[in-house]
Amino acid sequence: MIQSIGYAALSPQSPLAPLRFERRELQPNDVVLEILFCGVCHSDLHVARSEWGPSRYPCVPGHEIVGRVTGVGSAVTKFRAGEMAAVGCMVDSCRSCPSCREGEEQFCDQGAVMTYGGPEKHTGGITYGGYSNNIVVDEAYTLKVPAGMDPAATAPLLCAGITTYSPLRHWKVGPGQVVGVFGLGGLGHMALKLAHAMGAHVVLFTTSPDKEADARRLGADDVVLSRDKAAMKAWRNRLDFIIDTVSAPHDINAALNLLKRDGTLCQVGLPPAPLPVNVFALTGRRRRLAGSFIGGIAETQEMLEFCAQHGIVSDIELIPIQEINAAYERLAKGEVKYRFVIDMASLATNADA
Ligand code: NAP
Ligand code: ZN
Ligand code: ZN
Repeated sequence: MIQSIGYAALSPQSPLAPLRFERRELQPNDVVLEILFCGVCHSDLHVARSEWGPSRYPCVPGHEIVGRVTGVGSAVTKFRAGEMAAVGCMVDSCRSCPSCREGEEQFCDQGAVMTYGGPEKHTGGITYGGYSNNIVVDEAYTLKVPAGMDPAATAPLLCAGITTYSPLRHWKVGPGQVVGVFGLGGLGHMALKLAHAMGAHVVLFTTSPDKEADARRLGADDVVLSRDKAAMKAWRNRLDFIIDTVSAPHDINAALNLLKRDGTLCQVGLPPAPLPVNVFALTGRRRRLAGSFIGGIAETQEMLEFCAQHGIVSDIELIPIQEINAAYERLAKGEVKYRFVIDMASLATNADA
């Protein structure tokens, strides 16, 4: 077994604390990465605190991973030791169901194996994520980091990037369209950058007046305070597409009413409680309410290449792992600008972590 050290929650109430644990021995198709950087997604907080229902513990979160390959299994062809590599939200799937065959592994009929808290079929235990010094992953679920990309600022692309890129592509967002983004956090700031790079007119809807200048710098053409009823009314029936990244309960009907006829609102934020939908907000203009979940492996690689071509990375606050619990408190308040990334060197330089 491979020895690992990371930060884990042991219960919904416990702060994250150092934990030693084991990962599987390298299988023929596996690569082992020394983790250099790991982004902090709001999903990590939802899961560490069992906000979506009971999680499995110990919970080592983290699915925005960039590292260096330190070893490869005997059958690996895609990677060599010393190369940069990345891992996102899933580490395996059945590989034979229609979704897997179509490159939409995140919708695997057997359930994709999530990077943390999923079933680890080799050990019989659970998967552990990227708040740790290393990870063992099948090369088929490991991404290449395009040359020249800053590794720390690339890490958040592995979840926040693909989760916003995939629906923008699926609904063919581009020039001539007006796209709304709800919430300026980790996902929201990537949605602004990506929709702007795809050529759309981008409007940010935020609850935070102090984020306006940043939003414009990140790619928003207009900024609207979503709690200002008059400002919201001025945007009624004007949007082609909305991507809603809000992590908490909020008024989804106010957002739906901004769509033009036949417009689509795609929910990617995952508030723990149901969002009440007023069906009149849908029927009046044949609007659609949809959802999207991360993206497939090939599409994640495509997204990384797109970002490399357009000079897009995440705006990050780099933290040592010892500050993770304080970071969670700021994340819960929507105060991050715009993604925390853990510098894993902070773990290695302190043997007791
Ligand atoms: P984040 O950085 O915390 O950003 C969430 C943003 O939502 C906040 O910055 C805030 O933006 C807004 N917000 C928070 N509370 C709000 C409230 N009560 N009312 C209105 N707006 C509020 O979170 P994230 O990492 O981007 O993740 C966002 C959500 O997406 C989470 O629920 C996460 O679990 C989910 N997620 C889903 C997928 C998927 O595949 N579907 C993948 C990753 C994450 P403003 O200050 O601008 O209002
Ligand atoms: Zn995530
Ligand atoms: Zn499958």
